[in-house]
Amino acid sequence: MFDYYPKCIFCFCELPKDRKGVGEHVYPKSIYGCWRIYDVCDNCMKFFGDEVDQLATKNPQIIKAMEKLGIGKPEKYYEQIPFVGEDTNDGRAIQMVYREGNLRTKTTKKEDKFIECPEKDWENIGVAWLRKAIGKKLSEEELNKEIDVLRESYKQLTPGEELYSAKLGYRTRKRQVKNPRIDSDTLPSISPLVAKIAYSFLIYVDPLMFEEDDILRRHARYGELLPEYTINWCSDADHSDKVDRFHRIVIYAGLLGTLLDVTFFGSITWRVVFKKSISYELKGFNNIKATHVALVIDFSDINSKTKWLGIQEENRKMEYRELII
Ligand SMILES: [Zn+2]
Repeated sequence: MFDYYPKCIFCFCELPKDRKGVGEHVYPKSIYGCWRIYDVCDNCMKFFGDEVDQLATKNPQIIKAMEKLGIGKPEKYYEQIPFVGEDTNDGRAIQMVYREGNLRTKTTKKEDKFIECPEKDWENIGVAWLRKAIGKKLSEEELNKEIDVLRESYKQLTPGEELYSAKLGYRTRKRQVKNPRIDSDTLPSISPLVAKIAYSFLIYVDPLMFEEDDILRRHARYGELLPEYTINWCSDADHSDKVDRFHRIVIYAGLLGTLLDVTFFGSITWRVVFKKSISYELKGFNNIKATHVALVIDFSDINSKTKWLGIQEENRKMEYRELII
């Protein structure tokens, strides 16, 4: 059913007749996506590798799912997530990072005159910076003496208070942060990856869509803006309890048009909404009038990943068969 196309499905450049290489993982390899397609040129594959696939492991829901399932490197992936907290004294937003299993508050340095850091970092970061940045103004002995004095005074500070060293012309502020949370304002959107998966699925299942739903291709490959509400986060399910070792794409007719759900780890779903309805005349299955078509990428057994094609006809249950592609 999944024939080769003569051109790259994303940029339409001619492809060599003799396809080599590993192909493009539609769901990224880092999250066990074992569906590969060979109709993507090297440039587009490089672009997805550099810019799009990493969005999976920068997504908190996906990382949480991997943590729950005990697979991948969730600890490492949390380090890519921006966190933010509030300064306990004046409520300012303070950036935080996740390192080696802990959330850490960032240190702020301004020229060689000011440093603001949490108490536990003052000795390591603050003193090291003092020695390197401005300590040379004093002899080693004088500097050590001044640091001892500052250290004692620093301990007495309450969060938000500042300390000034006249000898060094240097100020330090004790920083304390509360209410840490994921900084959703700077979190990258996963929509280019969802668009890449949805588009790849569409052109294999229903090539008639190819021309009309080009917006997904252009968003995935060129970052062009999508019309509002094209890709929507489905937050209605309690995702944390239902995660599982498979990904799934399903297309079906909804009340408002055609819907395509891109699901990660069994339940984390983004829904693509098409305003018009689609023909379900599947390539290679022209006699079947399906209401739902699904592709399941199953990695319940990591060593023998399988893919299942699901077809649901009117008033029937979805039936799956193994797909060799
Ligand atoms: Zn291409």
